[in-house]
Amino acid sequence: MDKKKLLLSLPAVDEIVKSKVGIEWLRKYPRVYVIRAIREIIQRKRKTILGGKYEMDDPSDLLQEIERIIEKLSGFNLQPVINATGVVIHTNLGRSVLSEEIMKRVSMIAGGYSNLEYDIDKGERGKRYSHVQGLLREITGAEDGIIVNNNAAAVFISLTALAKGREVIVSRGELVEIGGSFRIPDVMASSGAILKEVGTTNKTHAYDYERAVTDNTALMLKVHQSNFRMIGFTEALSIEEMAALGKKYSVPVMFDLGSGCLIDLKPYGIHIEPTVQEMIKAGADIVTFSGDKLLGGPQAGVIVGKRELIEKIAKNPLMRAVRVDKMTLAAFEATLRYYLDEGVAKERIPTVSMLLQDPEKIKEKAKKIARMLKAGLGVDGAQTAGINVIEDVSQSGGGALAEVPLRTFVVSVMPSAISINELEVRLRLGRPHVIARIRDAALLLDARTVKTEEIGPLVQAVRAAMN
Ligand SMILES: *Cc1c(COP(=O)(O)O)cnc(C)c1O
Repeated sequence: MDKKKLLLSLPAVDEIVKSKVGIEWLRKYPRVYVIRAIREIIQRKRKTILGGKYEMDDPSDLLQEIERIIEKLSGFNLQPVINATGVVIHTNLGRSVLSEEIMKRVSMIAGGYSNLEYDIDKGERGKRYSHVQGLLREITGAEDGIIVNNNAAAVFISLTALAKGREVIVSRGELVEIGGSFRIPDVMASSGAILKEVGTTNKTHAYDYERAVTDNTALMLKVHQSNFRMIGFTEALSIEEMAALGKKYSVPVMFDLGSGCLIDLKPYGIHIEPTVQEMIKAGADIVTFSGDKLLGGPQAGVIVGKRELIEKIAKNPLMRAVRVDKMTLAAFEATLRYYLDEGVAKERIPTVSMLLQDPEKIKEKAKKIARMLKAGLGVDGAQTAGINVIEDVSQSGGGALAEVPLRTFVVSVMPSAISINELEVRLRLGRPHVIARIRDAALLLDARTVKTEEIGPLVQAVRAAMN
């Protein structure tokens, strides 16, 4: 057939839209995507015809191609994934997971009107932050507390409210970069505070801080070295020592703690960072931390400390720009409530319970996954032989937790028919999306971060990917 005839044989956009399938699509998908997909496929066909490479295909193939594009265009971008990496606080996979109970609170508050900024007792305007103030005081022992959008915002607004145009003393060993674009010197510069660095990379002494204090000193800042460690010939001031200096010179001491650990995890072999309570007790005037790292709540930044300072921060005009919404407040209040009883927090907050999971329980889950996988793969000995449960270490999380190896159990999969990289890609692109680790010649599925109800879908996804 000549090109002209072939071109004429292509259906018109309108023709497809008005056909039975077209009408069906319009019922299911947004019109813009239906039209765009039809145009795209027809255009593609036209190009191949003009390039002389066209082969007549079945009209139903054409429609299938169009439907694939429509589905791709109209699908959700933000998708759930199964986290089989074993990294509990995985920033790229959404950090902390909220429990079903908490999601119920969120949906109740977000799906209706609430007393977000209304004082029910008095029948007048109320304060957004009052809903978590009491809990923050109770749990951390601080005089007062507020929450903002994330810890970066907490550090930023504290600096701008307490130290704009004045000096903030920081040890050279603590001018850290947390990842993404959070770097202490840059945050300091944009807050309007003046960075006064003291000491050296590895050692900073009390006299370094003392020599730097002037009439223009607004704060002494300590920053937790979340994602790196210094070993060897090092020295830094403890928060107690800094608080003593702060008292001596009447300069408030602020600590950017990072994770916001509210439970002492040392008995579990997790020596990451001191708890917020310990730091308040040790004399920090302001402590900032994330809501969705170790605390296990929604994305938020928490500022606790001396009432007078918190009030000053709360009054800053930028507070409006970093304020949290009702969904965050609902989730955060519900998460904090668990901390009123440590046992409850350990059990009901997914981040905490996944971190403290008994390795034997993880082993059971891994064995179940392996057993179900083997059963599904039937009698193919080569495939089932490549599936084993092995002991390993999982990294609990990025940032502060990157350094904490935890004993875990993984299902190691060595596919016989496809390469290990191909298996990883298929799992990642499949439904549900599965994110796994590759090590040497095996794909590892860490059972620590796989929920019990995800085992079935995970097994099906792996089976589908291996065939
Ligand atoms: C994680 C972290 C931050 C940033 O917190 P976000 O909640 O991600 O904004 C700031 N400082 C320290 C020490 C951290 O560990």
